[in-house]
Amino acid sequence: MKYIGAHVSASGGVDQAVIRAHEINATAFALFTKNQRQWKAAPLTEEIIKKFKHNCAKYGYGKHQILPHDSYLINLGHPEFEALEKSRVAFIDEMQRCEQLGIDLLNFHPGSHLKQIEIDDCLARIAESINIALAETEGVIAVIENTAGQGTNLGFDFVHLAKIIERVKDQSRVGVCIDTCHAFAAGYDLRTEEECEKTFQQFSSIVGFEFLKGMHLNDAKSEFASRVDRHHSLGEGNIGYAPFRYIMKDARFDGIPLILETINPDIWPQEIAWLKAQQYD
Ligand SMILES: [Zn+2]
Ligand SMILES: [Zn+2]
Repeated sequence: MKYIGAHVSASGGVDQAVIRAHEINATAFALFTKNQRQWKAAPLTEEIIKKFKHNCAKYGYGKHQILPHDSYLINLGHPEFEALEKSRVAFIDEMQRCEQLGIDLLNFHPGSHLKQIEIDDCLARIAESINIALAETEGVIAVIENTAGQGTNLGFDFVHLAKIIERVKDQSRVGVCIDTCHAFAAGYDLRTEEECEKTFQQFSSIVGFEFLKGMHLNDAKSEFASRVDRHHSLGEGNIGYAPFRYIMKDARFDGIPLILETINPDIWPQEIAWLKAQQYD
């Protein structure tokens, strides 16, 4: 079973995101459980939590069909103590919000070394941040996203993801989300079926499909191996349709949220319908 959707707006409340997902015929969705550009947010009220759960049940969204994304401000590998603490507190809050909403995944970008510490030190810090957050929460899986490698962002190399996972104490509560645009921009080619085969073979041997908890399906405005993160609508960018056909036909991508973060929400219904159709022809 393929679960296909998009990162929908939660404006007006997280319960509204569920309705927006249903309206575009999505069988999965992503959302922010708080404003992604602010550090602090009001706690979720009992009423909102109830409405969210009610809508999920009503429209048929189970746990493995929902992939929340954390705030862009959080850097779990921050080189400075105070800033690192601030990020860890905010991340625990994000994990707790998921717990309250009955969601068992939280997707996040690993972190940035800001040219102040070595890559391996930063990866170790990120793993420690995950361990702290897992100890403070129950059930929610920390889902590390691969990045395009802009600036000093880590996670663009599959080896980074593996090194973080290696240091996480509870391996049952850590996973990864692979973003096709980020992988392509980081130098993993996806432009043909053969290149997809090669890239996911590398993923399989370095990280392992047992850790794959979600995918972001995005074409790229950015060039191959450019380390630039610019999404595009499916088939309109420098990647083309190949990886999306490949993913829809491959059972290794079953049972996890497959999320569009493409640039034109007006065509999400068509993109979702197109993806669904690829499973069968
Ligand atoms: Zn993404
Ligand atoms: Zn991106």
